[in-house]
Amino acid sequence: MRQSKHAKIVATLGPASDDRATIEALFDAGANVFRLNFSHGKHEDHQRRLEIIRSIERDSGRPIGVLLDLQGPKLRIGTFPEGPIRLEEGQAFRLDLDTKTPGSAKRVLLPHPEIFAALKPGADLLLDDGRVRLRVERCGADFAETQVVNGGPLSDRKGVNVPGVVLPLSALTEKDRRDLEFGLKLGVDWVALSFVQRPEDIVEVRGLVSGKAGIVAKLEKPAAIEALDAIVAETDAVMVARGDLGVEMPAEAVPAIQKRIVEACRRAGKPVIVATQMLESMVSAPVPTRAEASDVATAIYEGADAVMLSAESASGRYPLEAVRIMSRIIGHTEDDPHYRAAIDASRSEPPSNAPDAIGFAMRHVTDLLQAAATVAYTSSGYSALRMARERPSAPIIGMTPKLAVARRLALVWGVHAVLCHDVADVPEITDLACVTARREGFGAPGQSIVISAGMPFGVSGTTNLLRIAQIH
Ligand code: PGA
Ligand code: MN
Repeated sequence: MRQSKHAKIVATLGPASDDRATIEALFDAGANVFRLNFSHGKHEDHQRRLEIIRSIERDSGRPIGVLLDLQGPKLRIGTFPEGPIRLEEGQAFRLDLDTKTPGSAKRVLLPHPEIFAALKPGADLLLDDGRVRLRVERCGADFAETQVVNGGPLSDRKGVNVPGVVLPLSALTEKDRRDLEFGLKLGVDWVALSFVQRPEDIVEVRGLVSGKAGIVAKLEKPAAIEALDAIVAETDAVMVARGDLGVEMPAEAVPAIQKRIVEACRRAGKPVIVATQMLESMVSAPVPTRAEASDVATAIYEGADAVMLSAESASGRYPLEAVRIMSRIIGHTEDDPHYRAAIDASRSEPPSNAPDAIGFAMRHVTDLLQAAATVAYTSSGYSALRMARERPSAPIIGMTPKLAVARRLALVWGVHAVLCHDVADVPEITDLACVTARREGFGAPGQSIVISAGMPFGVSGTTNLLRIAQIH
């Protein structure tokens, strides 16, 4: 019922985690949010998985978050009808909009006019996750002549990254729009936006989502890192998407960027997910490497809200083992005395407003009284986020009358979300908070809890009340 870990696990579902027994086992092992990756799979696959998640939720009585990950403007080359080619360093290679001529060792289709419009001589194009690098020598509205900097094999429809250029692309492709509409109808809780470049990308999607889900900005482009604070201000949550980030930037730059992103999100009190290759070797082995265990622990010491599994849980051989081991690494790290010290040292001053002041006071009151738990009664989730921003040592119970909010809170550091009825006044919330803390295993009679709420009740964004109560 009650989980002991603060940080959350996002597990991607796929062919390796497609049936109820497996998904339920992942949930029991500690997965809090399931990611439906719309870069792969058909709508009916995602729908089936979502229905399984909702039925597990009903049976367990615990809210579960569902994150729809949109593919975004992922660029791809055309095909090589005569089979894969091999590019040699120094050779010339042309990309163009010619759909009639088959791809060869001399040229291939790149069906994206916007890219040609934005390219400049000297820009680099990275193909196949950065394995092949081309430098633009000459370009025009419908072609680019390049020189091969790093050669290698190249086959049909490999991905293309253009790190140095802000592309005049909408954050959403036609496919993304269809996927988004489908997902919102299904009732997903979070929508992740790939290849975000500017804060306006989030604004555009927010208009379409219109409050039906939270928005996760996937930071995987250098332009997004340059606009970090503005993007964090605009979005509801962030993913450190180290896969594409590590293609667009040198691998050695990624750890420092991860730290910067996590810090910016913690300062703003927005959930941040560290993602990609966390336990990568577990795609084919039942145990992680020492370096992978250390990578997960690093994200936990940094204070990330969640760590994510991709292929490990979606298509690997050991999805359950991956969630179990991730859970154990989180638990072990959070038990280390250095963990508390690291979290306390990396906390920033809260901004000066009422909900943050309540969150700040809550942490001090909780520490001073050695309270068993904190309770945020929240209709929008906002005051639970303010509490989580403080990273208190006591658990946070996020009580909300809105199922959608409870599900969204599954992503947030330290928050144990509980669905409750609408509360009318202070005596009622006090009583309900005590009963809930006891029932959910967070405290025993005689122990204190610290409650935050907003008056008038039921109106979002009114957090202005802190109440100390004793469990009876
Ligand atoms: P992806 O995003 O798995 O959808 O590519 C995450 C990443 O790039 O790290
Ligand atoms: Mn990506």
